[in-house]
Amino acid sequence: MVSEQDLDRAASILRSGGLVALPTETVYGLGADALNAAAVARIYRVKGRPVTSPLIVHASSLEMARDLAAAWPVEADALARRFWPGPLTLVLPKHPKVPDIVTAGLDTVALRVPSHPVALEVIRRADTPVAAPSANRFTALSPTTAEHVRAALGGEVDLILDGGPCEVGIESAVVALTGDGPVLLRPGAITAEQIAAVTGLEVRAAGVVEGAHPSPGMHRKHYAPRTPLVLAGDRLPSGRGAYLWWNTPRAAALALQMPADPTGYARELYRTLHAADGARLDWIALEPVPGGAAWAGVEDRVKRALRDEPVEPD
Ligand code: AMP
Ligand code: MG
Repeated sequence: MVSEQDLDRAASILRSGGLVALPTETVYGLGADALNAAAVARIYRVKGRPVTSPLIVHASSLEMARDLAAAWPVEADALARRFWPGPLTLVLPKHPKVPDIVTAGLDTVALRVPSHPVALEVIRRADTPVAAPSANRFTALSPTTAEHVRAALGGEVDLILDGGPCEVGIESAVVALTGDGPVLLRPGAITAEQIAAVTGLEVRAAGVVEGAHPSPGMHRKHYAPRTPLVLAGDRLPSGRGAYLWWNTPRAAALALQMPADPTGYARELYRTLHAADGARLDWIALEPVPGGAAWAGVEDRVKRALRDEPVEPD
């Protein structure tokens, strides 16, 4: 799917300040050279993202990431060695070499080494860290296939690499290591329990932290489809809709079965929502997912995608 020439082209576009959409194991990213402020500014323009929302910087090695942090506490080292490459982002004090636009003026920087071989190889060949938010317009659903990126941003990106559907399917877990113990800013495939086990420290949730900077992943409506999405109650809404179920099938214009395990559910979530959205029905209703630590990432993304006002049942 991705040739040697594609990898070289992607690296050279990044080096010359261009934008490359690239597959990661979480979702597709819209990448630019993280050390080139003008290139990063283009990410915000193409996404329509407010410049107050900091970006995650992707590195091809722990060393490349560590170089961008002004401090590297023992917890960062332990988490990086255990979970990188992988779907965990660490927020650390920022090294002055990271342009302010990348971090929206904050003195902290979000760092991750992704595990997708294409992302890793492009960053390695570009030989520079790559700032990359999800490759969708601000507040729209994140892309988990190259086709999603093409449909949303096609003409505005210099190159889209097709590395197949994303394995994890939801954005990385984000943990801040900038204060007193780890704070989970965004849940993901790596759970608070796993972070606590590796660091030996209690992990606090962002919501309970005084004065925590509101980060983009905490924006209420960050990942919503255009079709109103509701939780299925006793009755489904009136009209024609899509029903996403994992346990109890029901009659609907479009009934879509989801995996019953959190890993599988996360992998299929955005792809299924994109498909349901594309069917242009009146609503999308979702069977409530089970609670529990393993479902925290999925629950969080579902909550953000839900429509604020209820859709009336008939
Ligand atoms: P996205 O790139 O759209 O997946 O979102 C970026 C995520 O990174 C947000 O959810 C933030 O939680 C997080 N983030 C990036 N930079 C910082 C930072 N300096 N401080 C806190 N959170 C950050
Ligand atoms: Mg995003």
